[in-house]
Amino acid sequence: MMTIKEIRKRLDGGEMSCRELTTAYLDAVKRDNPALNAYILLTEEEALRVADAVDARRAKGEMLSPLEGVPFALKDCVTTKGIATTCASKMLADYIPFFDAFIWEKLREQNAVMIGKGNMDEFAMGSTGETSYFGPASNPHNLDYVPGGSSSGVAAAVAGGLAVFGIGSDTGGSVRIPAAFCGLVGLKPTYGAVSRRGVIAYGSSLDQIGPIAACAEDAALVFDAINAKDPGDMTSVGSEPVTPKLTGSVAGMKIGMAKEFFEVMSPPVREAIERSVKLFEKMGAEIVSLDFPMLRYTLSTYYIIACAEAASNLGKFDGLRYGYRTDAAADLDDFICRTRTEGFGQEVRRRILLGTYVLSAGYYDAYYNKAQQLRRAIKGEFAKMFKECDLLLGPTVATTALKKGSGLTPVEMYQTDICTSSVNLAGLPAVSVPCGFDEKGLPIGLQLVGPHFKEDRVLSAALAFERETAGEYLRASGMGVKL
Ligand code: GLN
Repeated sequence: MMTIKEIRKRLDGGEMSCRELTTAYLDAVKRDNPALNAYILLTEEEALRVADAVDARRAKGEMLSPLEGVPFALKDCVTTKGIATTCASKMLADYIPFFDAFIWEKLREQNAVMIGKGNMDEFAMGSTGETSYFGPASNPHNLDYVPGGSSSGVAAAVAGGLAVFGIGSDTGGSVRIPAAFCGLVGLKPTYGAVSRRGVIAYGSSLDQIGPIAACAEDAALVFDAINAKDPGDMTSVGSEPVTPKLTGSVAGMKIGMAKEFFEVMSPPVREAIERSVKLFEKMGAEIVSLDFPMLRYTLSTYYIIACAEAASNLGKFDGLRYGYRTDAAADLDDFICRTRTEGFGQEVRRRILLGTYVLSAGYYDAYYNKAQQLRRAIKGEFAKMFKECDLLLGPTVATTALKKGSGLTPVEMYQTDICTSSVNLAGLPAVSVPCGFDEKGLPIGLQLVGPHFKEDRVLSAALAFERETAGEYLRASGMGVKL
């Protein structure tokens, strides 16, 4: 696993050309991707084209941007003109978009090198990566385990040394959960910090795009490259660059811990979090104990709102305009019904049905409206907690990675999001940073949540933790590129 800084040193110091670097990554993908299934699509031609452009700029002595020439993985819900964008669904398996997503435009402006499109849970619905139409990705730390989802492929690629950073989307935890399971740093920015134009929507009031990276400084650099305001996304406001503001210190900070998070943790996670809390105290932070009684309602609230929005967002996939279409149908109704039944996987269909149910006239008040009221109450509790502290600390996930094919029921699977989804309901920024390993060597993630637009604060605390632990928890998986 290489950091952006290490790559910069090699490229800027003329130690290797960008073509050599890119070829090394492409070769590693060809060797290791069959085991990891991290990439759905390898974008070799595009990668080499950009690599050559970077080398030409280097030869002319032009100033290179921070991400210039750096190989990355892009989650396959991000639209790329002329390059297949599938959302890991049969519905979009042959879809070639005719426009670019804002974030892809931004990364291209920087000449970052896209290695390929990352595997994911179908339409980002899942926490393990196993709902992908293209099969599950594997955790590079142990191939029998899931990398976490829904940004499964991007996390597997970074931890597996097949990309330096990745771009994921996070509706209820999909950047932070795979970051935690793969021993990486994952940042879910404040709602509105990053434009979603061209990102295939799941839950529009919750979705955010964020980096998955090897360390906090890398996450900051990637965030700075994509967080501009975009008139093409009315919810986007952009935010200040965070890299110049990273202090790497928590001295004098008040860090809150909600007791309720401690009730859900498995023993190895609890041990790692408790050890980390002591380290934060040692670094000069004051720990305050807080109550978050609404935590018990967050999963029901999140799943009602996310499914309602998904049912609406996915209504456009009817086979009439683009995407999969059935071959045999008696009439128009039958055509749409068959197309959607055949084109969507089981979990996506379940959520569309659930979302349609909670939005239907007879149940709207009982479910959807009530969920909106609860969402307001959850936001209120966060606001109250932030009156007493600067940051909140807890686990990212209550357990470590699950074994592939664990056969959990949908509701058991939804519980993976217990610590992450409330953050999306409140639109807050949060980072997952590695803080330990369980007895099987699977990584554990610590979550730091900040007030709106305080990405600098959450990343500074993550950086402080990395420094204090001397990167002890950023252990490489041993797979991937060796330079
Ligand atoms: N696991 C959650 C879900 O399935 C979160 C997914 C996400 O953040 N995209 O809804």
